[in-house]
Amino acid sequence: MIKQVLVTFLLLFTQLYNIIELVRFMIYLDNCATTKVYKEAMEAALHAFEVTYANPSSIHKAGFLLRNDFEEARECIKKFLNIKSGEIIFTSCASEANNIIVNSIKDIKKKKILTTAVEHQAMNKPIDNLVVCGFEVIKIHPKGGQITLDDVLTKLDDSFGFLSLMHVNNEVGSITRVESIAREVKKLYPDIIFATDAVQAFGKLRIDLSEGNIDFLSMSGHKVHAPKGIGCFYAHDTHLVKPLIYGGEQEFSLRAGTENVPGVLALAEAVKILDKNLENNYKYVNNLKNKMIASLKELDGVNVHSEGEGYSPYVLSVAFDNIKAEVLVHILEQEEVYISTSSACSSKQKKHMRVLEGYGYSEKEAEETVRISFSEMNTEEEVLKAAELIKKAVKFIRSVKK
Ligand code: PLP
Repeated sequence: MIKQVLVTFLLLFTQLYNIIELVRFMIYLDNCATTKVYKEAMEAALHAFEVTYANPSSIHKAGFLLRNDFEEARECIKKFLNIKSGEIIFTSCASEANNIIVNSIKDIKKKKILTTAVEHQAMNKPIDNLVVCGFEVIKIHPKGGQITLDDVLTKLDDSFGFLSLMHVNNEVGSITRVESIAREVKKLYPDIIFATDAVQAFGKLRIDLSEGNIDFLSMSGHKVHAPKGIGCFYAHDTHLVKPLIYGGEQEFSLRAGTENVPGVLALAEAVKILDKNLENNYKYVNNLKNKMIASLKELDGVNVHSEGEGYSPYVLSVAFDNIKAEVLVHILEQEEVYISTSSACSSKQKKHMRVLEGYGYSEKEAEETVRISFSEMNTEEEVLKAAELIKKAVKFIRSVKK
């Protein structure tokens, strides 16, 4: 009995020690995969777990008061996106949001879709699934990194019913100017439905939906320092939305299920912080990225894929000649430096090739590409240390291979 207690205690102690060590020394540069939750967002969620835990649909006072907070949170997101008409509908994540968006167009008359070859699977797969409903899907392969108005207009004509362009690519950080593209496209094709997966842009680039040219936009809480399990989408015209989950009348009867109140309140808290700091964060993170690039370029055989104005400062895609990305990621984890091969959602399946090859990279280049993604929570010291460790690891792998 005593032996059993001692063993359990030892195991618990070891686990706790490992966690403390990890948090103390970890240099987390995988912020496109997910982010650390803001303390304020955590406290908002905790308050909703501990104190205001009623169901916001209940007719009693506790429910009613919570409903007010919940709707205030929705307004906060609408204000952040400068929404003049339309609604924000909360979901469990951006994948769900994208699936609802794509499901909403399945009965439209014009059965041609224009999208890109570099969408996240959460948009790519639902769109591809529409082929069985008689849709034809055309994909733009971006030349030179960015998707331009020209790329869109050369493919588009009046037979297209849906256009979906991601705002910031999650693997290389390439920025698509969706607001201006939507404006020009709507001048020529006012009936086309325009959607954008803005998961990696929301909270990082200023997004203004006031012109009303974007019909749908999706985002995810856990990419912007809110918890996992909360996302939302904007619908310019809620009549267009075709739900995937039927049941209660939550979310304007467009997404049934008791609301994730802690998640929504935490997201609103994160959005308030991001709103205040967005421009400063952008500059700060841009400096981190530039410092990382400058340091890595001291090595030979470094190919930076995402440098300059057309790329988000939050994402650095870089390849090291003759170094398998997977090997580098695993060597760095030994030093508590966390980067990634590509997107977290596809890294287990080697499907990341799809996006990099969509950008025109060869299979070899794709295999050598790592993604280093920043947040304003990273320090310059961390970034410089990580750069040194990356260079050391690259030199080590190259020396072993000789
Ligand atoms: N879209 C993009 C561009 C993403 O980067 C991700 C996650 O990596 C998603 C969609 C899916 O987001 P979620 O994890 O909230 O489903």
